[in-house]
Amino acid sequence: MNMLESEYRKLLFPFPTVRKIQGDFLLKSNDIIENSQILIAHAPTGIGKTAAVIAPALKNALESDNFVLFVTPKHTQHYIVIETLKRIKSKYKVNFGVSDFIGKKWMCLLPGVDRLSSRDFNELCKDLKRDERCNFFNKVRKGDKLSREASSLLKKLRKGIFHVEEICKFCKEKELCPYEICCELGKEAKVIIADYYHVFEPNVRKAFFIKNKKELENCILIVDEAHALPSRVRKILSMNISNLSLRRAVKEAERFGFVKVSRDIGKILDFFLELVKDKLRDKEEVFVRREEFIKGIEERCEESLQDLIDMFNLIGDEVREVKRRSYVGKLGNFLESWYNQIEGFAKILRRRVSPMLGEFFLLSNKCLDPSLATKEVFERVKSSILMSGTLTPTRMYAKLLGIEERVEFVEYPSPFPKENRLVLIVPETTTKFKRRGEIEYRRIARKCWEIVREIPGNVAIFFPSYEVKDGILQFFSRLCDREILVEKKGMSKVERMELYHRFKELASKGAVLFGVAGASFAEGIDLSGRNLLSVIVVGVPLEKPNLEVQALIDYYEEKFGAGWNFGYIFPAMIKVVQAAGRLIRSERDFGAVILLDERFVWRNYYKCLPKDWKIQVTKNPEKLVKKFFERKLKELEE
Ligand code: SF4
Repeated sequence: MNMLESEYRKLLFPFPTVRKIQGDFLLKSNDIIENSQILIAHAPTGIGKTAAVIAPALKNALESDNFVLFVTPKHTQHYIVIETLKRIKSKYKVNFGVSDFIGKKWMCLLPGVDRLSSRDFNELCKDLKRDERCNFFNKVRKGDKLSREASSLLKKLRKGIFHVEEICKFCKEKELCPYEICCELGKEAKVIIADYYHVFEPNVRKAFFIKNKKELENCILIVDEAHALPSRVRKILSMNISNLSLRRAVKEAERFGFVKVSRDIGKILDFFLELVKDKLRDKEEVFVRREEFIKGIEERCEESLQDLIDMFNLIGDEVREVKRRSYVGKLGNFLESWYNQIEGFAKILRRRVSPMLGEFFLLSNKCLDPSLATKEVFERVKSSILMSGTLTPTRMYAKLLGIEERVEFVEYPSPFPKENRLVLIVPETTTKFKRRGEIEYRRIARKCWEIVREIPGNVAIFFPSYEVKDGILQFFSRLCDREILVEKKGMSKVERMELYHRFKELASKGAVLFGVAGASFAEGIDLSGRNLLSVIVVGVPLEKPNLEVQALIDYYEEKFGAGWNFGYIFPAMIKVVQAAGRLIRSERDFGAVILLDERFVWRNYYKCLPKDWKIQVTKNPEKLVKKFFERKLKELEE
């Protein structure tokens, strides 16, 4: 055993061999953790980053009062972490506790709660527990002590390392709340696996840490898929109400006998509709000033907003004793966020149309600044590693997340042979907003088909939006003789899995998947080997230049002097690289990435593409694609 290998073993690395870049990442992670620092690591697929990070983090935790908190937005990642920990445990014969969480709503045993928003669900759960109306919760404890059933289940769980789905299954058999059981496990755990929500929603974090008897100051925080953190946190902190939810709140208050409150909410609804009439008029969206909304409500209700908020929250609690969700409570939460969030939020009134509801209006308090929730976390944790396969520019993430001190940056190259990936930019078409329409869609459809027919297997094509995807699909389907599978808005998990399996089944024949950049398939599918031979990214998936995007650009310009890049271009290019990352998941995989838009050769966009891609610009991609696959298939035969 050489010196390096023995070093890796000391750091509890669980696999027999270590790849060069993986070894570097392992040592770097150890250094960061030992020195209580923060690392922002761009680490492409294939490095084996989970083991490289979790092993030294666990080693540190076992030798100190620290614990490891691994947060990820992806459910599949939980399995990888659990498997890695099991390997460490069996290889090094070390004992440590592990607790695995997904969103509480997804762990809950009550039927139908998956339809509630996380906020509504949390309120419901809180009320049920407070009033001892949840039997699964009640069965966990007898007075201050754990019940016999809970103790015996915990005894079993402490002997091994279990995935959250297994824990939920055991809990269901015993009729015990899985979240409570996981918190009991968490109290003694050296490793907790959880969702971003558990750490970056301030109220949820407080409760989560108290229940698991943990402190941020002892936390080695590992953030997986960290490229998604800024937008996810912004989403967590954003809230909205509509004229429809206000109307429901009026009725709810009335039905529960709160006549005056019902009248007050009616006045808020009238004021809301006045804003629509006087401010929005025939526009799609307008900004609303914080003060004007507060003043309007206080004048009409003749009460301070703070008093109204307290009242709505109280009534919300009462309503949830009978119903699962409270519209009055939701209004209280919204007004609270409107009142308290002075900086870093855009307040926007919008017109919306839905096939089910017709036209309605939405008032949003949109968070622009994720650091409002993340800064404190990264300041307080013992150390942290943020990692992703698309985490460039690394310094942008530090700025967006408010990480100012004790931070280091590292960018690793892809460990896979460069010659296995053909990367082409085809600057012939565009999905620029001004050029969208039949003529351009026909050209794009034709170009896609010319490329697809040269690819001897599955191809995924990702578009900037569902509208563009559907627009091009109508022309592409007339040309294409392969089966086309289409990702649709709002697909359920089951529907997505069916589509995924069907796509895999068709790999030998070759099928085409139509998806959307930034949506489920472009961000999450894992297709190795011959299951995916090419990804075509059609257009730059820029956000619609609406008021929120405008506010984001202005805010980042003011704060960092980089509004256009941070607020508009980089998020779109991250989606492009993420979509391209569906291809080549192992050393032996090969395939072609084709970027179809004239803007990809523009400097501002081109510079966002990974440095280790060997990019060719061409107007005849089909020839290069054909040659590439002929060569690769020949190599395989030899
Ligand atoms: S206590 Fe547990 S089972 Fe009961 S509502 Fe909350 S999460 Fe669900």
